[in-house]
Amino acid sequence: AEEVVAVDNAHRAPSGVMEVPSRLLMGPGPANAHPRVLAAQALPLLGHMHPPFFKIMDDISEGLRYAFQTNSKYTCMISGTGHAGMEAAIANLVEPGDKVVIGNSGIWGERVAILAQRYHADVVEIKVTPGETFSYEALKQALEEHKPAVLFLVQGESSTGTHQSLAGLGELCKKTGTLLLVDAVCTMAGVPIFADLWGIDCIYSGSQKCLSGPPGASPFFMSERAMEKLKNRKTPPATYNLDLNLIGDYWGWFGKRSYHHTGPVSTFYAMREALALVAEEGLEALWTRHQEMQKRLWAGLSSLGLKPFVEKEEDRLITVNTIKVPEGVDWAALTKHAMDTYSLEIAGGLGPTVGKVWRVGVMGFNAKPQNVDLVVAAFKDGLQRQGKL
Ligand code: PMP
Repeated sequence: AEEVVAVDNAHRAPSGVMEVPSRLLMGPGPANAHPRVLAAQALPLLGHMHPPFFKIMDDISEGLRYAFQTNSKYTCMISGTGHAGMEAAIANLVEPGDKVVIGNSGIWGERVAILAQRYHADVVEIKVTPGETFSYEALKQALEEHKPAVLFLVQGESSTGTHQSLAGLGELCKKTGTLLLVDAVCTMAGVPIFADLWGIDCIYSGSQKCLSGPPGASPFFMSERAMEKLKNRKTPPATYNLDLNLIGDYWGWFGKRSYHHTGPVSTFYAMREALALVAEEGLEALWTRHQEMQKRLWAGLSSLGLKPFVEKEEDRLITVNTIKVPEGVDWAALTKHAMDTYSLEIAGGLGPTVGKVWRVGVMGFNAKPQNVDLVVAAFKDGLQRQGKL
């Protein structure tokens, strides 16, 4: 018989205990996870269909109801990062041929427009200059003109650092029979969002920003109206992996529990702990802490002569701040120096802001004075090294 021999490439495979450098992640995310969240992740595994694990999933659903400010039955974690939540929202709530108005204020709206086209939506993209947001009037006009099945907006556009106001839009959307879908990946638990009060129909978020968790799970919410749309679809969603009828069945939305996929057990432990931290601190306290740390950041940056990229104060996002790169400053050298010297991440721009801004996150566990002050000190040092201070 032929001898069975493993291919000898073990020397390229990892061995030994893994080590990673310790870094302060003050870019647009991931932010550093809370130690309690990391500890929860290391707890022993349960089976994904074991009753104690269902209890954890129920706790997560309740924690999400609080964090999203909703009484809807339909909250869950989508297994995957923010993009999985994004795709679940579009794939389930858009039917082929549906007209969808997408607010493009940076790369996230742009990406959702591409995604919606892949699900055969009739996409109408509305745009603003990067650094600006949509006015209530502009959105009202778009709704009245197109009467779309769906209006999609990004609450916190992390590529430009803008905060889209959502208040009052739910009411407008109801008048035109439109579902309101919102990306709250970098805003949830950092700035207010009121799913029920604002009449939002679907929100997806991310675990790795203001929730102080590791990436890998997407907090998700759907209204009763959104569920009706899903139930009345002419064809099932083109994705099996992200079909909310099936995922909902795993989360107990319809009174039973069926296996759809293996829930990422440790990641859900982390989310249970992250949501407990949100409830313990309280949303108002969280919002205030984020706001205060953002003020502290800008007080420091302004003292160095740095300016916000977003012109109007009311459009500025608290959780991801965009800072104009002054004439003649090498932005990449500054971020490299911050990393090399302080093990501190300050990010450059993304999409329309590449080369124009730095991005600094004030999110979750990281939103505290010593971190903000270190960011300011790193900017001071970096500018001085380039002879710009
Ligand atoms: N939307 C926004 C506003 C984001 O900031 C991000 C992450 N940078 C995403 C969506 C995508 O999330 P993820 O990278 O977790 O898939």
